[in-house]
Amino acid sequence: MDLYEYQGKELFRRFGIPVSDGSLATTPAEARAAAEELGGPVVVKAQVLTGGRGKAGGVKLADDAADAEQKADEILGLDINGHLVRKLWLEHASEIAKEYYLSVTFDRGAKQSLLMLTTEGGVEIEQVAAESPGAIARLHVDPFEGFQPYQARRLIYGAGIEAPNEQKQIAAIVEQLYCCYVESDAMLCEINPLIVTPEGEVKALDSKFAVDDSALYRHPDIAEMRDVAAADPLEALAREKGVTYVKLDGSIGILGNGAGLSMSTVDVVVVAGGSPANFCDLGGGGDAQGVVDALEVITRDEQVRAIFFNIFGGITRCDEVARGILAALDQMRIELPIVVRLDGTNAEEGRALIAESAPQNLFVEPTMLAAATKAVELAA
Ligand code: GDP
Ligand code: MN
Repeated sequence: MDLYEYQGKELFRRFGIPVSDGSLATTPAEARAAAEELGGPVVVKAQVLTGGRGKAGGVKLADDAADAEQKADEILGLDINGHLVRKLWLEHASEIAKEYYLSVTFDRGAKQSLLMLTTEGGVEIEQVAAESPGAIARLHVDPFEGFQPYQARRLIYGAGIEAPNEQKQIAAIVEQLYCCYVESDAMLCEINPLIVTPEGEVKALDSKFAVDDSALYRHPDIAEMRDVAAADPLEALAREKGVTYVKLDGSIGILGNGAGLSMSTVDVVVVAGGSPANFCDLGGGGDAQGVVDALEVITRDEQVRAIFFNIFGGITRCDEVARGILAALDQMRIELPIVVRLDGTNAEEGRALIAESAPQNLFVEPTMLAAATKAVELAA
């Protein structure tokens, strides 16, 4: 789960990382009031779950409250990389002398967390990595040893930060950020830019924060930060029903049992000349309720013209899944054509069951490609 900048900053604040005071607004009038309350020049920032807001015109400085209202009006409603701006964060404008970058993320290859620090902040880290990889200091943290203060010092020397007062503040922030990352079960905590003000004060001007979904049960306060209104309504419905579902733009609804098979199904539909309407993983089982839930989500998408069930019977036998599908179709009316590919354990029994009692709009095919081709044909 990705957090908005203001939410990430709230967590930073709890762990002692310096951030500016600010508040939220959803209308220009609220922005004006917020700026008045803060006093002095402010920065008005689009709250969207994507980067590059500055370049897209989603971050603007305002001299006073009237100006903040004006800037808010310009930013609200903007489309930034496909994200509609509905919320703004206003905070005291900072003066910037230097822009650094600091992050901690999970390095799967190394099976350890990775700290990164560079004095070339403010721009995308991918760009720094491509153009001057030597400028990024990297350091792994062994999860069993935990973070050690010498690691912050090594990182800071590696990045070439020489001013003692910066070194001291950044060493504290590195430790606080690592702590924040571990305690929040985060996958990524990134500060870009980490600024140094003309007075030599170091603080976090931005936050990119991703928390491991599987750990949210341990963090009800973070789970509550999820912005349900901003989510795709179908994905929200799927989440409610416990269905693994990602909305895509095509016309063929897809269900597979297992994430890998579902991914392949998306591919094979494209190979057959169609376009997938979604990714949907039924998981290991294939019980009627799971199928009903998945079908309810998939058929809610008005672009769907045909449905393709791709089932490979492994531990879950095909006859069981076939019974699940038939029971589900008993419970709900579906007019759309449905193509089922059944293969694997007890495939014959499964196909026989469906052939016996399937409704008219249900077709069975023995291979993935044949089934995809049939679904594409029926959707046309
Ligand atoms: P991003 O573009 O989505 O990464 O948004 P950021 O929060 O990083 O803001 C983009 C840029 O706006 C920063 O790199 C800064 O240069 C600038 N910026 C943001 N806040 C302030 C501020 O308080 N004062 C000044 N002078 N510039 C700011
Ligand atoms: Mn940024």
